[in-house]
Amino acid sequence: MILDAIVVGLGAMGSAAIYQLSKQTPYVLGIDQFRPPHTLGSTHGETRITRQAIGEGVYFVPLALRSYQIWRELEQRTGEQLLTITGGLFIGKEQSDVQTRHKPGWLRTTIDAAKTYGIAHRILDTAILRQEFPQIRTGPDDIGYYEEEAGFLNPERCLSVQLDQAIRNGASIRTNERMVSYEWKDGVLTVRTDHTTYQTRKLILTTGSWISESLRDTPFADLLRVYRQVLYWFDIQDNYQHYTPDRMPVFILNDREVYGFPAVGGPAGGLKLATEVYAQPTSPQSVNREVSEAETHAMYERFVAPNFVGIGPGCVKSAVCLYTMTPNGDFIIDQHPANPHVLLASACSGHGFKHSAAVGQILAELALQEQTMFDIQAFRLASFDR
Ligand SMILES: Cc1cc2nc3c(=O)[nH]c(=O)nc-3n(C[C@H](O)[C@H](O)[C@H](O)COP(=O)(O)OP(=O)(O)OC[C@H]3O[C@@H](n4cnc5c(N)ncnc54)[C@H](O)[C@@H]3O)c2cc1C
Repeated sequence: MILDAIVVGLGAMGSAAIYQLSKQTPYVLGIDQFRPPHTLGSTHGETRITRQAIGEGVYFVPLALRSYQIWRELEQRTGEQLLTITGGLFIGKEQSDVQTRHKPGWLRTTIDAAKTYGIAHRILDTAILRQEFPQIRTGPDDIGYYEEEAGFLNPERCLSVQLDQAIRNGASIRTNERMVSYEWKDGVLTVRTDHTTYQTRKLILTTGSWISESLRDTPFADLLRVYRQVLYWFDIQDNYQHYTPDRMPVFILNDREVYGFPAVGGPAGGLKLATEVYAQPTSPQSVNREVSEAETHAMYERFVAPNFVGIGPGCVKSAVCLYTMTPNGDFIIDQHPANPHVLLASACSGHGFKHSAAVGQILAELALQEQTMFDIQAFRLASFDR
């Protein structure tokens, strides 16, 4: 049998793609080398920030807005809570030149995007920030952008719900099965795994930090870099009530390079915080998945103690996760340079989860209709100088 499409890699992007494909045809197959959700790629850690005014580029806003609709549609269909609205507080200097996920002027672009798309927000000066959010230490030149509809998604649940829905729609899912190669002959793609072979008209590669393997022998072989990132849950020593979701929104302290979430795991669950590190590229095969006491201590001294009131140095837990970065922090959503019947999506660059539901729709449209209603010009491989 020749399938309509195969999706290889069932993380955030692949689970969204197989769900969207399955709404159009049951002759689709999803394959993953592990059993998602798992902790070896980029889609774990209980929470992901979502927001609508996208500081990484105004052109991301339609993806974020469409994803909000899809999360709500999935919640209605399944009764699962995927999206929790807490509001989002993004603090920084309006004229800052700090690069955020390889993007300059992140807070300025966020405010521009909110104005362009009429996204509900308030701009808070330092006095109001201190009054409304005494748990965050603010600097004299800080302003706050507060977005009403920002919040967090549960990545593991979003992924599982989409795979479940795809199966209900008739899609097949194979886990603990690894794609080793594919070849194109006489109008059909043969996909070889470590178990068997399949035939398909279209192949979608959403292999996250492993995707460079599929760009070998192309001019884009060294386009992407994988970086180790660490998520920490630090002890809430005092003023727990300041950190619960009714008092604490999701937050990004842009110039101080730290972001986090309200305390959703109770008083003993800790406050989830992270920074972003681009010092040393790594790979999913060689990355150090242990978090040392020394790096936890350094994180606390540099990013936690100076910025938050009542948070102690004890670390409840931590997790290592992978960013796959393009040079400019945008995504790749395109045909493979060597075969137009193979599509690939590298939609990480540290900010992809919130857009993943819409990326799945785009991939399904490209695979089955060969066109999409979304403007993906910025995400074409040709936009990267090679
Ligand atoms: C620490 C951290 C914090 C983040 N915070 C946010 C945030 O707050 N908001 C936000 O919007 N985004 C955030 N992101 C980004 C977001 O999580 C990623 O964009 C997203 O998870 C990427 O998903 P993916 O599907 O591309 O990769 P993955 O989830 O890693 O999926 C790739 C899958 O491909 C499979 N695979 C690879 N090769 C093969 C093969 N040959 N055969 C079969 N299967 C294969 C892997 O097993 C894996 O399951 C964060 C990311 C990290 C790491």
